[in-house]
Amino acid sequence: MREIYLDNSATTRVFPEVAELMTRIYTEEYGNPSSLHHKGVEAERELTKAKQTLAGILKCEPGQLYFTSCGTESDNLAILGAAAAHGRRGKHIITTPFEHPAVSECMKYLESQGYEITTLKVDGKGMINPEDVAEAVREDTILVSVMHTNNEIGSVQQVGEIGRLIKEKNRNTLFHVDAVQGFGKAVLHPSRMHIDLLAASGHKIHAPKGIGLLYVGKGVRIRSTIYGGGQQGGMRSGTENVAGIAGMALAADMLYRDLEEERAKLFRMKKSFAEKIASLPDVQLNGPQDEVFGAPNVISLSVKNVRAEVLLHALEDRGIYVSSGSACSSNRPHTSSTLTAIGLPKEYLDSTIRISTSVMNTEEDIDDTVRALQELVPVLRKYTAH
Ligand code: PLP
Repeated sequence: MREIYLDNSATTRVFPEVAELMTRIYTEEYGNPSSLHHKGVEAERELTKAKQTLAGILKCEPGQLYFTSCGTESDNLAILGAAAAHGRRGKHIITTPFEHPAVSECMKYLESQGYEITTLKVDGKGMINPEDVAEAVREDTILVSVMHTNNEIGSVQQVGEIGRLIKEKNRNTLFHVDAVQGFGKAVLHPSRMHIDLLAASGHKIHAPKGIGLLYVGKGVRIRSTIYGGGQQGGMRSGTENVAGIAGMALAADMLYRDLEEERAKLFRMKKSFAEKIASLPDVQLNGPQDEVFGAPNVISLSVKNVRAEVLLHALEDRGIYVSSGSACSSNRPHTSSTLTAIGLPKEYLDSTIRISTSVMNTEEDIDDTVRALQELVPVLRKYTAH
């Protein structure tokens, strides 16, 4: 059976070129970058090269980049690190109702520690109004955290505009952006977008699991939450994951080299899916479908009277892999905070699947998936109690 992997927002397949580079590092350039001998210097060289590549993509200096173990750790370091460094100046933080748990759980923790968290309004398409952010910023606001691309419905926030308005109101307020889903699919120049802290993750961009990235703006102070040998300027102690770092840099380079072309290909597949699925009754697409406010690779589809999990497994029987709700936490049944925040009607809440493509997918994958949905949905609906 042909495998059609459409769960790329959960994780991606590693590019063969990335796997090859990493194998070389694991087996040949395996030194500890802190070692003074040749093997260490060799590994250090890989680190330097990777940082330069990523700095070129983010239009920043290599020294502004720190490597962690995943997107979650990058978000934690940014948020908890900012709160620890600036908590004496103020205790007010602003966020959205549909952040990934990597952010929202930090907020819950900070709230329990006496911080005041303001949660912004979100519209039916999953968009935050930048003016609302500006209005919420106060003298004692130390941090605003808004995700770039939503992992469930693919809404893309106007982070540049949000950043500009935050700084206009209070230049001491830090702006954190969880760009785990946007990095590799959108142009991200943090300093031009007034972003102080930006998190990304390797496994969402065809690099392996276990590597994350945090950009820290010039002069931005955060307090590290990891104590140890003082690697990475003491910001994140622990021997660097050299192979993972090099792999992430290569994957990012491959994606950003042809970004416009790849975005166009992904949008073409998304549009073609939307057109072909339109003939199926009682289905709806969630989130923005346009190319400014919508992610190129995320399709959120609600299918009335079909349970998402049932549909997911029926598709799986045909070799098609999608997800229900948010993949990262879908093994913990919960009502999606994103779908609730956009006011999705109750009858659609448990009936929403996410199809997320990558540059490794083809138009044929989309056609086969649409065909499978057209065959499966009417049958599954017959077995759903009304
Ligand atoms: N932030 C967002 C928006 C995500 O989608 C995810 C993972 O799905 C994360 C953070 C966490 O990233 P990681 O799995 O690398 O910890």
